[in-house]
Amino acid sequence: MRKKLVAGNWKMNLNYGEAKQLLAKLIEIKSQFNPATEIVICPPAIYLSAFSEHLRNHPEIKLGAQNCYFQDTGAFTGEISPLQLKSLGVKYCIIGHSERREHFNESYEVLSKKVKALLKHEIIPVFCCGEQLEVRNSNVHKEFIMKQIEDSLFQLKPNEISEIVIAYEPIWAIGTGKTATAEQAQEVQGLIRARITKQFGEQVGNAMTIIYGGSCKGDNAKEIFAQADVDGGLVGGASLNAEEFLQISNSFQ
Ligand code: PEP
Repeated sequence: MRKKLVAGNWKMNLNYGEAKQLLAKLIEIKSQFNPATEIVICPPAIYLSAFSEHLRNHPEIKLGAQNCYFQDTGAFTGEISPLQLKSLGVKYCIIGHSERREHFNESYEVLSKKVKALLKHEIIPVFCCGEQLEVRNSNVHKEFIMKQIEDSLFQLKPNEISEIVIAYEPIWAIGTGKTATAEQAQEVQGLIRARITKQFGEQVGNAMTIIYGGSCKGDNAKEIFAQADVDGGLVGGASLNAEEFLQISNSFQ
């Protein structure tokens, strides 16, 4: 069976005291999370070191980073390497979030290098793709998303791409309160799986975890997660509330 996964992307939110409180709350309610779902939190990078210590005895909650650089070490002021993330026990790293593509001009070449660098250190990339509203309105979103995936991931070998999680995040749904319908999520995620299957074979396609992101909430996750090709969620705003994150995480039927 495919891995189910729900990841909280805390983005650049919460001061350290607030972040510790949220972590403490998640630890307090950890036994209520369905153990069949992988639960990941991606706090701001500056908190990863302390969080890694706090989570030492709570393996039910996995740690993820929101970004990394593609070199192991060196003169890259302000950057964080996969090797450094690995040394903290970080298991996942979001790559290619639309906010990084837009505000930090991350190209598909850079994203491709980041994915490879993470795989080298056995950190699982959560590779984000998704279209702007204009692209969807022009009805070329399917081609657009396939190109994002082909450009950054198709140089990988089957055993490498098997390690990746793909997150479909329509940009018009991120932080807007405007969720894609379950049918829209399924349509795109079904296509992503079909494209991966065509390129890398049935075994890889069937086993790939593909999650949905974009205003995922406690009251809409059930319908979205019920779709055949939706294996979980990447959750922004709603992941800052422990109870709602729990509700979303337990939305599989
Ligand atoms: C995200 O940023 O990955 C995201 C899905 O945000 P939100 O849930 O707030 O739309």
